[in-house]
Amino acid sequence: MSTETFEFQVEARQLLQLMIHSVYSNKDVFLRELVSNASDALDKLRLEKLWDDSLDADVSDLHVEIDVDKDARTLTVRDNGIGMSYDEVGRLIGTIANSGTAKFLQELKEAKDAAGEEGLIGQFGVGFYSGFMVADEVTLLTRRAGEGQGTRWTSRGEGTYTLETVGDAPQGTSVTLHLKPADPENQLHDYTSPWKIREIIKRYSDFITWPVRMVPEASAAATADESGEAPEPETLNSMKALWARSRDEVSDDEYHELYKHIAHDWRDPLETIRLQAEGTFEYQSLLFLPAHAPQDLFTRDFKRGVQLYVKRVFIMDDCEALLPPYLRFVKGVVDAADLSLNVSREILQQDRHIELMRRRLTKKVLSTVKEMKTKDQDRYDTFWREFGTVLKEGLVTDPENRDAILAVASFASTHHDTEPTTLKQYVERMKDGQEDIYYLTGESRQSIENSPHMEAFRDRGIEVLLLTDAVDEVWADAVGEYEGKKLRSVAKGRIDLDAENEDAPDGDREKRTEEYAGLLGWMKEQLDGDIKDVRLSSRLTVSPACVVSDAHDLTPALENMYRAMGQEVPSAKRILELNPDHQLVKGLNQAYKEREDRTELAGTAELLHGLAVLAEGGRPKEPARFVKLMADRLERAL
Ligand code: ADP
Repeated sequence: MSTETFEFQVEARQLLQLMIHSVYSNKDVFLRELVSNASDALDKLRLEKLWDDSLDADVSDLHVEIDVDKDARTLTVRDNGIGMSYDEVGRLIGTIANSGTAKFLQELKEAKDAAGEEGLIGQFGVGFYSGFMVADEVTLLTRRAGEGQGTRWTSRGEGTYTLETVGDAPQGTSVTLHLKPADPENQLHDYTSPWKIREIIKRYSDFITWPVRMVPEASAAATADESGEAPEPETLNSMKALWARSRDEVSDDEYHELYKHIAHDWRDPLETIRLQAEGTFEYQSLLFLPAHAPQDLFTRDFKRGVQLYVKRVFIMDDCEALLPPYLRFVKGVVDAADLSLNVSREILQQDRHIELMRRRLTKKVLSTVKEMKTKDQDRYDTFWREFGTVLKEGLVTDPENRDAILAVASFASTHHDTEPTTLKQYVERMKDGQEDIYYLTGESRQSIENSPHMEAFRDRGIEVLLLTDAVDEVWADAVGEYEGKKLRSVAKGRIDLDAENEDAPDGDREKRTEEYAGLLGWMKEQLDGDIKDVRLSSRLTVSPACVVSDAHDLTPALENMYRAMGQEVPSAKRILELNPDHQLVKGLNQAYKEREDRTELAGTAELLHGLAVLAEGGRPKEPARFVKLMADRLERAL
């Protein structure tokens, strides 16, 4: 058969270079990665055979086997699992599909020093390629279950790999590492030593549900066993499901290794959550909160959900029926005793027991976060920084757990520059007479703080929550109130802080309204089409004007969001508010009363509206016209 040579995709080549010249000290993990891939391949074959009995594959003794040859300095990890077709080998092994890898490589370029590099490698999984940390050549021989021919892939990791069709490959995949020359200084890293292999498997792969066997070396066995019979392979892992064991039997390290296998993450999880339910519908679960949000958490095709097992047998990955979408970052295992082995995703979506299980798991995750918040503020801070945005989606989609989510939610606020606040703390700090919880949404903390809508609040020292996530506006609207206090946007509706202040001289306000009535009515006519009303403001102290939304209208940000989601929404007209204490507004009123010809004033009214739109980060309707009016007036002021 002919051998063809191919080039690695650019990212793959960069990653391989990194592995070959790696400074990463914990090289042992390459074996964990290969065994993890082998175990996945066994799971896949078992399932495929379950669904399609006619598949020509032997599933009677699925296992992983490790072979070492001291003289040849090779180490082989073999499985009799699903295998890969010729095309799959090229696609899966020659390229890198994981979107996180691009970010990883970018960060690596920036971290030029060895320490930075080591830290980064420790954070990202590189799977199969990690073999190149210890080998200078890797051969992979594989045959896809059901296919007649196999494929051999070989590479020295330097730019190219070869592919060759092989007639008589065994079922599954074997990966042979041609180990780098032994380092006489460092016997600890001799991967041809059986005890070293034993130790690594025990440490990293003990929970793998398939037997991981080691075949004694042929030469060693020949002397030990005169009878000439083939030596018995030794099973290295206990195969005990960690979730079925009691808490005191399992160390944190063991839990963490399971997490890394499931999540394809090289970092420890932030939190491990155990839940064992007895009774009519029995299940055990082991859930993990990762320490970092994955890159693709907000993409449409993010694979969510945990692994489903039935009585220790792996059934499916990414089982989305077990947790709501806003907990999509949670990883782990659920092992249910009373489900059929060939249960489908459709059936799970409708199953009443699964529904109950989802509710229980959801509550458990939320109560764990709450506990973290009371016991370990640092850990909670990390959690909220990474996953707070996602969790807030639950405020909209899961009314049943709204209170539990609000209890663990925290928000930036004008109360403190860096420390976020909970709603509870906010309420405790509310001023005498303050009835509502105020918030403002926007692009960034800075833009919100500088918004004209904030002026009166700043002046009176009233705390405002500063919300910068897209979901904030939606949940604030959906939730409506907290402990009987309304959640109110400072950019919506009438804000009358003086009403909350009992000493406010009411008479003043009435007089003012009378004084400005003419101007307000006239401006409304002038700007008709762009706004629905003009009125005096009590939220401004410095700016001449601002635009606000009516209490029940969508704000421009929300309108944009719905449109981005493909929903038709009418554009709500907004309200222009004027600051009667501002010289410009006072002058305008004066001029309005004195002049017969108001052509000039009409331009000023238009400018005032444009300025208000600009101040909140918007864009005047006709920028060119706005600039012309402005330039005209600046010129006259010279
Ligand atoms: P990851 O395991 O994180 O997806 P890898 O680079 O380790 O990344 O593997 C890439 C893909 O190659 C796997 O997702 C799997 O589809 C395939 N693969 C790797 N090892 C095996 C194996 N032993 N048997 C079958 N397929 C495998």
